Amino acid sequence: MNETCPPSQSFLDETKALACVHCGLCLGACPTYLETGNENDSPRGRIYIMRALHDGRLPAAHSAVSHIDRCLGCRACEVACPSGVHYGELLEATREHIEKRYRRSVLQTFLRRVAIERVFPYPARMKLALLPAKLIKRLRAERLFPKFARDALALIPERPTAGSLSEVSLTASASKRGRVGFIRGCVMSVMFGNTNASSVRLLNEAGYDVITPAAQGCCGALYAHGGNLERARECARDNIAIFEKLDLEAIIINAAGCGSTLKEYGHLLHDDPAWAERGRLFSAKVKDLTEWLNQPGVQIANRKSQIANLVTYHDACHLAHPQRITQAPRDLIRKVAGNKFIELPESDVCCGSAGAYNLTEPEMAERLQRRKIENLLKTGAQTVVTTNPGCMLQMRAGLHKAGASHIQVVHIADFLASRS
Ligand code: SF4
Ligand code: SF4
Repeated sequence: MNETCPPSQSFLDETKALACVHCGLCLGACPTYLETGNENDSPRGRIYIMRALHDGRLPAAHSAVSHIDRCLGCRACEVACPSGVHYGELLEATREHIEKRYRRSVLQTFLRRVAIERVFPYPARMKLALLPAKLIKRLRAERLFPKFARDALALIPERPTAGSLSEVSLTASASKRGRVGFIRGCVMSVMFGNTNASSVRLLNEAGYDVITPAAQGCCGALYAHGGNLERARECARDNIAIFEKLDLEAIIINAAGCGSTLKEYGHLLHDDPAWAERGRLFSAKVKDLTEWLNQPGVQIANRKSQIANLVTYHDACHLAHPQRITQAPRDLIRKVAGNKFIELPESDVCCGSAGAYNLTEPEMAERLQRRKIENLLKTGAQTVVTTNPGCMLQMRAGLHKAGASHIQVVHIADFLASRS
């Protein structure tokens, strides 16, 4: 919906915005630019739009906002950028500015303010919201709904595995190496409870007692990516207060999108004197499951027979780009799959999931989903391993559309645990 607004007050860190020297080296890494070839859908073009919004040269109207909305927040541009532009920080600040000034359509307002902000971060509400969706799928009644609703329904797994974890899960005392905390995640705990159980089991087998505080809440990623930074900061403060009381070597997360936000609490709270240092200390302890399990000396049991079919790996954006973790998951998969591991072309190009992007920007999400599935089919792999629940849902739905549901999409924790 078009809505012009008066010039803005300062919302961008100008030094960070001016770090972009317009070289264009990021363009080939940007999934939306690869799809549209439109400069306004590239990192360089978007930074220009952000600066124009900031300076009041552009109003927060549809013509500008649509290009910022279409950004996946995948941050592939940060990895490609030789000038070290902090694109993610610029994007979140711009989105916060837009959400305060831009009036959206009824559907977009419902998706962003109700579904994404008031349902997804609350596991009990998400479970309730899934009930009618599961019924519609069971009755095969999807065709009665418009395309955007059918696409959303296609993302919901046939058999979500909600699961609660015990607050304390102890390893065998003979093999004890230490004690870690575990973040169970909102989507993970409602749809992939088995994956959380596999993750805790792998940590126990590797010698770690695992503490999963029941009072922990949403990491704040969905709020931060959607421009509600104040609510993201509240989530951060709540989680820091809960985990900092525990004597933990590390705080483990198995969802790439959450991990990226948890590792950036220091930045999120950098303007808050009471919490900035606490945020930094919390973030320094956060480790993705794969980087923790791939440390020297940590053993992953592998007692089963060799894998018969090819296995490939999709880099979840928020693991590969903000966290720069690409080798650890490959090393772990190779320990199990050996020479059956095959690289996926464009492995680090976003699958279109990107948090809740496949709900708010379904057209581009579908284009990127198709691109990802075409690349997957080229490998001949029968198993695709990844590290983020959104990617799993997006690729499963894409494989189903392509008539290739026989190809398994599995979280790396389940892949490793099933071989041990
Ligand atoms: S690579 Fe970095 S400096 Fe170059 S255009 Fe992209 S964001 Fe700007
Ligand atoms: S975050 Fe991703 S989609 Fe957005 S500009 Fe950067 S590379 Fe492109």
